[in-house]
Amino acid sequence: HVKARGKDGYRFFTDSMSIDTAHRLSLERDLRLALERDELRVHYQPQVCSRTNQVVGLEALVRWQHPERGLLYPADFLPLAEETRLIGKLSERVLDQACRDVGRWINSGHPTLRLAVNLSPSQVEHPRFVETLLERVRAHRFPARNLEIEITENVIMSDLEQISRKLKELADTGVRIAIDDFGTGYSSLNYLHRLPIHTLKVDQSFVKAIRSGEDGACIVNAIVAMAHGLKLEIVAEGVETDDQLSYLKSLGCHQVQGFFYGPARPAADISRLLRRDGLAFASTA
Ligand code: C2E
Ligand code: MG
Ligand code: MG
Ligand code: MG
Repeated sequence: HVKARGKDGYRFFTDSMSIDTAHRLSLERDLRLALERDELRVHYQPQVCSRTNQVVGLEALVRWQHPERGLLYPADFLPLAEETRLIGKLSERVLDQACRDVGRWINSGHPTLRLAVNLSPSQVEHPRFVETLLERVRAHRFPARNLEIEITENVIMSDLEQISRKLKELADTGVRIAIDDFGTGYSSLNYLHRLPIHTLKVDQSFVKAIRSGEDGACIVNAIVAMAHGLKLEIVAEGVETDDQLSYLKSLGCHQVQGFFYGPARPAADISRLLRRDGLAFASTA
């Protein structure tokens, strides 16, 4: 793991080597400032029940309202946050904001509304991960049962024993656990019944493949069948078209998330959506 920043530290990060150094340094300085100046924004993407068109959950997705560069997406700054260790602070901000926003909606007539938050590998690997997460959630009086954390298979496989202990501890408090981008990581299916997992999120690459005929769809078929067998909930990600939606429905996969129902939006838009109670953005015309 990263011990210190600086010339040598960067050698480990092949991903970001392509970004030129000057750009990196200015982005890093900007990201520190962004935390001070409160430029991070949390947008929410509805997770919708396709049978009822009702919003069952909201995934918190971080954005950065950069003063000169405009609205930046996680791909533009999360890798840098991870390697400079600003990720800890960033995650804290996202969770605080999300607990405030979604807590308000839960208390105003949506008692079962779920908040889904993405966790970074370093966050989960931190020895005090469980305590830190629960402290923050409790500080907001956010109901643990309404919280779902999203982690990837790679994070689980990185240290199965440790992670398993942590996830059990969290699950005991009512927090739900989702595997994000399911099917794209290095994993062994063995962990699925050894860990307290509640939800599989089918990666959008498999949902995209639906349109390319039967071959493309067979992975989605298999994942949904397995989730049913293991009694796991399933959320299909990246659903963009009517055809994808009907196909998923025919498989019995009813929770969907994607541009078909709408992209992640600021809290004010979600408030409006929830007041209307159901039907996400795109399908309301
Ligand atoms: P993810 O958790 O798999 O989130 C899904 C990504 O797909 C999001 O991109 C979302 O905006 C996008 N998306 C949703 N529906 C569709 C669709 O129909 N079509 C297409 N093409 N894309 C769709 P985004 O917001 O850029 O986030 C990218 C990744 O960054 C996330 O992938 C997640 O791994 C990470 N991330 C986002 N917010 C946070 C955060 O607060 N903390 C951490 N640690 N990671 C985050
Ligand atoms: Mg996610
Ligand atoms: Mg995903
Ligand atoms: Mg992802």
